[in-house]
Amino acid sequence: MRRSILILLVALAAGLSLAPAASTAVKIRVVATIPDLKALTEEIGGTLVDVESLARGTQNAHELEIRPSLMLKLRRADVLIENGLELDAWAEVPVQGANNPKIVRGAPGRVDVSRGVPLLDVPSTRVDRSMGDVHPQGNPHYSLDPGMAPIITKNIVDGLSRFAPESRAAFEKNRQVFLERLDEAMARWARAMEPHKGAKVVVYHPQWIYFLNRFGLSQAAALEDRPGIPASPAHLTRVIRQMKEEQIKVIIVEPWNDLKLATRVADEAGAKAVVLASMVGGVKGADAYIAAIDHNVNALAQALR
Ligand SMILES: [Zn+2]
Repeated sequence: MRRSILILLVALAAGLSLAPAASTAVKIRVVATIPDLKALTEEIGGTLVDVESLARGTQNAHELEIRPSLMLKLRRADVLIENGLELDAWAEVPVQGANNPKIVRGAPGRVDVSRGVPLLDVPSTRVDRSMGDVHPQGNPHYSLDPGMAPIITKNIVDGLSRFAPESRAAFEKNRQVFLERLDEAMARWARAMEPHKGAKVVVYHPQWIYFLNRFGLSQAAALEDRPGIPASPAHLTRVIRQMKEEQIKVIIVEPWNDLKLATRVADEAGAKAVVLASMVGGVKGADAYIAAIDHNVNALAQALR
């Protein structure tokens, strides 16, 4: 009798001590459309989140093939983090297919992190989308600029806290720790780019403007005729002439774009083509947010030297 009571008490104690552990083990299921937002959400959410990205770092984030696997990820999501400005407008199709009311547009679990970002390249006239222009609401590639991370992570804290208000303090703390690390890195990046202030570069797809602006460089031209429109021979001839006239030394190429073509143009202009990580995971070693910016700053500074 006494023994069975003892067993019961032990079982009860074990049950009680297991209960809190079991509840904290349930992580918030977050889906991010692009790896930059996955990386930043992991910084903010820490052990409280389980994050997946729909796009991979080596892909063109404008054009994602919609496969059933995307829909499966979205079906189980508590929160969907999106870039906005139509970069990831393709996500709407698998969201509809996933039939998950938590993440439909307007639901608390739908988080557009472009809120509050000071936009560049906003068209002053109406963009003709029949021509395929992929930046109709302004340049959507703001996450490449580490100076935007404070705004993005603020939006992530707000979004995650709508789902888990009890964890807001933990998210805020993680954000502060991350921003301190980012500040240190920013000082290092500013030093590396200081000698190249004022330099002009050519880009393949016009997605580096926020990054270049941050460090005092500028985009002289893009190999694409317009955002998302392939380069025409006549346009490339003009770019090569301009590069020679303005002594432009570097063409920035995205991992998903045509490196051979960029290298041919660079050779003709007496410049070099350098591949930067257009998203986290785009090149080897760029597997976290700060690591990706590290790669981009170092590779660009070296190419400009
Ligand atoms: Zn773009």
